[in-house]
Amino acid sequence: MNPVTVITGGSRGIGAATARRLAAAGHDIAIAYRRDHDAAQAVLADIHATGRRGIAVPADTTDPDQVHRLFDTTAELGPLTGLVNNAGITSPIGAFTDLRADDLRRVVDVNLIGYVLCAQQAARRMTHGGAVVNVSSAAATLGSPGEYIHYAAVKAATDTLTVGLAKELAPRGIRVNAVAPGIIRTDIHALSGVPDRPHSAAGRIPLGRSGEPDEVAGAIAWLLSPDASYTTGAVLRVAGGL
Ligand code: NAP
Repeated sequence: MNPVTVITGGSRGIGAATARRLAAAGHDIAIAYRRDHDAAQAVLADIHATGRRGIAVPADTTDPDQVHRLFDTTAELGPLTGLVNNAGITSPIGAFTDLRADDLRRVVDVNLIGYVLCAQQAARRMTHGGAVVNVSSAAATLGSPGEYIHYAAVKAATDTLTVGLAKELAPRGIRVNAVAPGIIRTDIHALSGVPDRPHSAAGRIPLGRSGEPDEVAGAIAWLLSPDASYTTGAVLRVAGGL
């Protein structure tokens, strides 16, 4: 039986690269997205081109009912074996003192509550073991001063969620790990008001450049694979030395 994996935020950026890579590795895939229908359809076409099955489900991961529906729909592909908790947002880059309460709440809602809701559905449905990868951030240990400390704090919560879930779910054969990307070339920087951040930040990255989505997807694919069968509770940094 093929692995069946849900990827939240699978329509763009790191999630889209992960969908393409996992399809090539033999996974049947459900991608969840919020509003960019055309981007989701393009990823779906690439999944189908590999010969694998795929579905694209509009589902806001902050809404428990939509998350429930996402996992119910995914059951069409077979028993769930994998979850990539990836759908995430930042808010406008700026000083901590300028942070707006609405932006703070939205970052917590998508990056923490959404991850918990999806992990809960996955854990309930992985009756014969499985693997979860939470997409965290190098920000969790760097703190992101002057940029988005609240986002960094929520990503640190992702790491704690990973460690706790890994221990609680290990007896059921479910592995839980995280990847912590550094600065990766995706749309997220435009949405935080600094589209050229991958370029402008290159000088402070030890490897001298920002990363590509596929370089993170490779780490996620490994953590989901049988090669990582003894790896759980790990946070794998993919940050060019940051
Ligand atoms: P991205 O290019 O902006 O893509 C975000 C994806 O998440 C899109 O598919 C988007 O779908 C989806 N999404 C956003 N909010 C959602 C919601 N409430 N429900 C369902 N889907 C939602 O972002 P990315 O850079 O690939 O980031 C992916 C993950 O990596 C995030 O967790 C981010 O925090 C983390 N990360 C990124 C970087 C980086 O430098 N890029 C660094 C460290 C960590 P729609 O287009 O339909 O809204």
